[in-house]
Amino acid sequence: MVGLFDTHCHLVDGLYKKEWSPEDLIKESFSQGVNRLMTVSCSYEETSNLVEIATRYPEVYASLGVHPNNAKRIMSSDELNQWYLLTEHSSTAAIGECGLDYHYDGFDKDLQKKVFIQQIEFAISQKLPLIIHCRDAFDDLFKILEHFEGKIAGVIHCFSGTLKQARKAISLGFKLGFGGIITFANAGELREIVTSIPVSSILLETDSPYLSPVPYRGTVNRPSKVKIVANKVASLRKLSLQDVTSITTANAFELFTKCR
Ligand SMILES: [Zn+2]
Repeated sequence: MVGLFDTHCHLVDGLYKKEWSPEDLIKESFSQGVNRLMTVSCSYEETSNLVEIATRYPEVYASLGVHPNNAKRIMSSDELNQWYLLTEHSSTAAIGECGLDYHYDGFDKDLQKKVFIQQIEFAISQKLPLIIHCRDAFDDLFKILEHFEGKIAGVIHCFSGTLKQARKAISLGFKLGFGGIITFANAGELREIVTSIPVSSILLETDSPYLSPVPYRGTVNRPSKVKIVANKVASLRKLSLQDVTSITTANAFELFTKCR
């Protein structure tokens, strides 16, 4: 039977402290019918550790990336060489999360763009899809993605834009990731997007340990809770949980070809 795929989680994160090891989180997920996980890095320093964890489990994959909030400099050639070695692993399935985040003060737009573009070019060179983080920066994001149109595919994770922006992203060859936010009371616009876009564009995620779905909002999230997100999508799209599971996992396999 096809299981759920949490396409965006952070198995190694300070919020898990010592209470949840990556192994605990993976085992709990498998016991709940979530049998594929993409563990995503936010900083260069995290990447080799995540690949190492992913290599221990055939159902766990790693994504190599520098989050825009950590974009302090572009990678050196030594660091890029290390990434070339890491992408040789069968478990390294994507590049990201990378992108643009203009939400908090004090960011350097030009530097964020440079760090993002370096990762797009790396992903193209390795024929890997992108996992994009975008907050309050869709105009600049689309300008950059238009420049690479046809050369790169990916997902805009934890999508937070408008319906118009959703359609634009899909037209550029991107899927949209939805997580616990679609269960929040104030997320009516996002639920509207989930019901309006082609179901073939939807990926499920948790962004755990962040963004726990209702009724767990505010607590530490875990990949197993992607099932709550799947149930929400099922009720919005008037589909069964089994249909949502097989459709969204097939969508993820279409994008993340190394996870098939
Ligand atoms: Zn994330």
